[in-house]
Amino acid sequence: LPVVGVMLERHQVETLGTRLLAEAHAVGEALPWASGPTLDVACARLATDLGVRVTVIGPDGKVLGESTRSSESLEDHADRPEFREALGDGEGRSVRWSDTVRDRLLYAAWRQTRANEVRVVRVALPLTAVTANAAQVRQFVILGILLASLLGLGVAFVLSRAMLRRLQRLIAFSERLAAGEPTPYLGPERADELGLLEAQLGAMAARVASTIAELRIEHERLEAILRGMNEGVVVTQLDGTVVLLNARARELLALPREQDGRGRPLVELARDPALAELARVLAADDVAAPRDVTLEGGNGRTIQVNGAVLRGLDGEPFGVVLVLHDVTELRRLEVVRRDFVANVSHELRTPLTAIKGYAETLLGPAGDDRETARRFLAVIDRHSERLGRLIDDLLTLSNLELGRTSLRLAPVLVGPAIDDVLQILAARSAQSHVECSTAIAPGTPPVLADGDRLRQVLINLVDNAIKYTPAGGHVAVRAASANGRPGRAPQVEILVEDTGIGIPAQDLPRLTERFFRVDKARSRELGGTGLGLAIVKHIVQAHGGSLAIDSTLGTGTRVRVRLPAAS
Ligand code: ADP
Repeated sequence: LPVVGVMLERHQVETLGTRLLAEAHAVGEALPWASGPTLDVACARLATDLGVRVTVIGPDGKVLGESTRSSESLEDHADRPEFREALGDGEGRSVRWSDTVRDRLLYAAWRQTRANEVRVVRVALPLTAVTANAAQVRQFVILGILLASLLGLGVAFVLSRAMLRRLQRLIAFSERLAAGEPTPYLGPERADELGLLEAQLGAMAARVASTIAELRIEHERLEAILRGMNEGVVVTQLDGTVVLLNARARELLALPREQDGRGRPLVELARDPALAELARVLAADDVAAPRDVTLEGGNGRTIQVNGAVLRGLDGEPFGVVLVLHDVTELRRLEVVRRDFVANVSHELRTPLTAIKGYAETLLGPAGDDRETARRFLAVIDRHSERLGRLIDDLLTLSNLELGRTSLRLAPVLVGPAIDDVLQILAARSAQSHVECSTAIAPGTPPVLADGDRLRQVLINLVDNAIKYTPAGGHVAVRAASANGRPGRAPQVEILVEDTGIGIPAQDLPRLTERFFRVDKARSRELGGTGLGLAIVKHIVQAHGGSLAIDSTLGTGTRVRVRLPAAS
């Protein structure tokens, strides 16, 4: 600001000086070439007209004429800078304090020559006016500048506030984005550079969100597939580290519930080293085709594993996938079937061998003796009967297992059915000296059953009771309504109890297996096929009932059958 002030003043003094110099020329031309009071008067007149001070100085510095007072009273002016300058160069200027007019004056001096005469005409103006003017202008300028600065500051403040707010919004937005949190909508606030950034960041967030959503759906789909699979799936890296395994795989490998298994070497997870070995072989051998191994899983399971190498789009192997099938049940059934075939062959061969043996003997000389022949024929008859029973039982069982026997369900009264059975077996019980009795509780409802099948069940059970009870023993058949638990359909309970030899506790669970007998020789002796209880179990289950056997060795056996009551 002071600089502006000074420059302004200097500029004004400059122009004023030039004007004053021109005035000095004019004044010089107008003034007579005289001195003393004559010139003083002329000077004073011109000075009032022009509003300046006029002085005429001789070449020696002596004042010849003066507008403000008498020239005689003035001292020598030879030392005044403007005078010396004008005398030397033709014109001169200076700003000085004048003792004569007691003011700061601007002087302009001009050297005037006529023939060989020389004088210096000097015109002066008080600078007070100029200074005052400059001060006022300076005030205006300062005020203007101050106002402009204030305005500028205000605008800058407002603008920077808005900018700061937008920047803060951008920062908060990108922080949420980086943290993976859901972001609000972000659009450009204004069409400037920051707006461009806002728009791009907003678009980027939208793209990221949609990509994440897509990935999540993909991931959930994969999880659902893996969860729903009945097979165990294990994926490992080439080094054998498990990267993925589903719940079924965890179950098959019997991993503890809390153990995730991912990130661990396969060797540590599987009890059977064959699994890790399969993965290792697959990973090492580049051209390995899918391979199978059967291994021991957790909880005594048998697991079949198909393994294959996983390859990326570039064909480079990056891992191994192992699919685990639980083949425990399959293997068990295989064993059962094999045993069954062996058992059937064995059971069939025994009577056949006997029949063949006796027939051959009969064909020989022994056949001539009538008495012997009759005895042998009786044996053949017994064995063929047994063979027939065996085949009947096998057919019954196989039909039951295949579900070929359709049950003709109808309400059947238990009492008459039991009486029928005891009637059929009366001869047998009498022969064995075993007493049979029945007790039907009053109000026992009829059962919903196939009458013939129910009789078959009862025959098998009562026949067993008679067979395995020594002479003098007792067989009791009882029936009663069994409305066990509330909410369950009403049932009828039939008990077949004997006072026989009993069954060892460890054999109880196996009684209903085909061809299972506690004492093979004795069973055969008594004409048993070993299929009776298996048939009973099947029929009872087909009716929606249940079978339970409990026994005390040497004391007796109790078989309990429950069948649904006919409503
Ligand atoms: P079987 O034709 O040999 O009698 P079952 O299937 O009827 O075959 O019975 C299987 C085995 O269960 C019999 O061999 C016998 O050892 C045992 N068993 C069945 N019922 C009784 C019973 N009431 N008392 C003692 N043992 C029995």
